[in-house]
Amino acid sequence: MSDYQFIKSQDEKVYEALAGEVLRQQTGVELIPSENYASRAVREANGSILTNKYSEGYPGKRYYGGQEFTDVIETLAIERAKELFGCGFANVQPHAGAPANIATYFALLEPGDTIMGMDLSHGGHLTHGHPVTYITKIFNFVRYKMKNPDTGEIDYEDMLKVAKETKPKVIMAGFSAYSRELDYEQFVKIGREVGAVVIGDVAHIAGLIAGGALKNPFDAGFDVLLTTTHKTLRGPRGGMILTREDADIAKKINKEVFPGFQGGPIMSNIAGKAVAFKEALQPSFKDYATQVIKNAQAMAQVFKENEVRLLCGGTDNHLVLADVYGSLGITGQEAEVSLDEVGITLNKNMIADDPRSPMDPSGIRFGTPAMTTRGMKEAQAIKLSEIMLETLQNKDDAQEKAKIKRRVEELCLEHPIPEVFN
Ligand SMILES: *Cc1c(COP(=O)(O)O)cnc(C)c1O
Repeated sequence: MSDYQFIKSQDEKVYEALAGEVLRQQTGVELIPSENYASRAVREANGSILTNKYSEGYPGKRYYGGQEFTDVIETLAIERAKELFGCGFANVQPHAGAPANIATYFALLEPGDTIMGMDLSHGGHLTHGHPVTYITKIFNFVRYKMKNPDTGEIDYEDMLKVAKETKPKVIMAGFSAYSRELDYEQFVKIGREVGAVVIGDVAHIAGLIAGGALKNPFDAGFDVLLTTTHKTLRGPRGGMILTREDADIAKKINKEVFPGFQGGPIMSNIAGKAVAFKEALQPSFKDYATQVIKNAQAMAQVFKENEVRLLCGGTDNHLVLADVYGSLGITGQEAEVSLDEVGITLNKNMIADDPRSPMDPSGIRFGTPAMTTRGMKEAQAIKLSEIMLETLQNKDDAQEKAKIKRRVEELCLEHPIPEVFN
């Protein structure tokens, strides 16, 4: 871990908060499924002097001089991304996942056009049409849902029916709170039938796809993939847009990311992406991706054995959604707070057709990317799940929780963040 000596000597307040966060990340277990530990090399690139440089445009076609090295870096990021996902085009400039999604909507649609996405309460993301987002003022969103929240099966029949009625120009397959694999062939079939561009927002699962542990939607014929780079993919915070072929759609996307929607690219961030993609191309990344899923399945099993209802009935990926209110009479908010108190970080989450409110929903969502990067395997996943259930049973017992916190710290000491990620 960097000792942040320069910050320490000139900015005590930021240094203190940063040092606190270092300790928090080292001594607690991170179970937020969208978080991870980026490697030192990724962070070195992301914090490099490239932050000084303006590079509006794309490699070979920039609006500023002095691009001989930035062009090399962005080209490396692009070529590695294409190799990782087996596709023909990548734009690595989106500052985060949401801007990647919005730029893509603008590239492919006119105001007033219709986008079909997964219902938010069934696992979809804010950027797929939540009423609180600005894009819902510009585009019209229609939804598909699970047929049965206890298996996770999507209602493809209803999806086709709604698609035929509403003629979406884009169909989004993607989620941030859903634990099964989607049937990508069905999405492509429905998309082709109504003439929609079929887009996979794989922000959460990109690392599992890159590591070969989950299916790649391009293999089923998807047109576009959108992703973040900081979740399972374990890169710096950022976004990326991929298309199957470097054709018409790719040109529109490049134009819309810059100058349409963003200004200058964050070249230090793009360097971090390039380094992360090289890491993800190594054989060890496959082991990580496989282990992430094994760990999530081991955790799901313990919850099931203890009669906690899991949405989708279990998991195929890196995350688990548990109905703690329905099963244990503890709200998602209460669960999040009690677990935080013992050093386990996760988030409360709405469950499908939740009778409760977003600020105090019925569920919790947790996942295994960060703990897997930390070197934990099934044995630790099982131990952690047992600790979580014990915490929930003792949520009002401060003494018991203090004891549990020490056990969590011990577990972290036994599995320190590996040198390359620390
Ligand atoms: C996380 C996420 C995003 C947004 O990414 P940000 O980097 O937070 O903007 C978009 N779509 C899905 C499915 C996500 O999970």
